[in-house]
Amino acid sequence: MSSLKLREIRKAFGSLEVIKGVNLDIADKEFVVFVGPSGCGKSTLLRMIAGLEQITAGDLLIGDERMNDVDPSKRGIAMVFQTYALYPHMTVRENMGFALKFAGVSKPDIARQVDEAARILELGPLMDRLPKQLSGGQRQRVAIGRAIVRQPEVFLFDEPLSNLDAELRVHMRIEIARLHKELQTTIIYVTHDQVEAMTLADKIVVLREGVVEQVGRPLELYDNPANQFVAGFIGSPK
Ligand code: ADP
Ligand code: MG
Repeated sequence: MSSLKLREIRKAFGSLEVIKGVNLDIADKEFVVFVGPSGCGKSTLLRMIAGLEQITAGDLLIGDERMNDVDPSKRGIAMVFQTYALYPHMTVRENMGFALKFAGVSKPDIARQVDEAARILELGPLMDRLPKQLSGGQRQRVAIGRAIVRQPEVFLFDEPLSNLDAELRVHMRIEIARLHKELQTTIIYVTHDQVEAMTLADKIVVLREGVVEQVGRPLELYDNPANQFVAGFIGSPK
């Protein structure tokens, strides 16, 4: 079970509180998109869920288990970042298998999991290339592949497409929607691209200065924004 519950989650850096009591229920297999202005706390929330940042107060539950103090590697979560570094001296195949090797997964299992991810992302012909021999979009697919091979129950994406050009972003958006269908995992996805949010999300969470302003299905927010801030964020042309 990979439902998530955030209960009164807070984060302070020193005396600066940046997440101010966030409550959120995310269902198993749901595709949830976080939107909000730069600095509102989207990445910090993701990093707390992933275990890369300590939770200052509140509870994070995955299934029924409290995860606040569970090691990141034991949360069943994989995160894909906006800026990701592939290992330059390793092939695509090696890049994708490396974390598994490190985790002590057997060679045949690594090969199987890497091949499966390659199939899903259509990376087959590129498996023996080095990162410098790939385009930006292909590199981003390898970064996603590295997350898939770990077979997480929950994926966290932090603005994964914002470094790609417009055309490629559209293509990758379709890929990510397909990925969600095929893998049947829970996804939390951060973007500042309205179209991405509206087309990918089962549920959109609008954040402002560390507070949830509104949660709803894309059309709910579009048709019935709770306030001017949400209206401005969801409805405005980009
Ligand atoms: P977003 O991803 O929505 O742009 P962030 O989660 O990165 O926002 O940041 C939220 C707030 O927390 C910002 O004011 C940012 O400056 C602050 N912040 C983030 N990380 C740190 C840190 N390690 N130390 C101090 N302040 C931080
Ligand atoms: Mg961010």
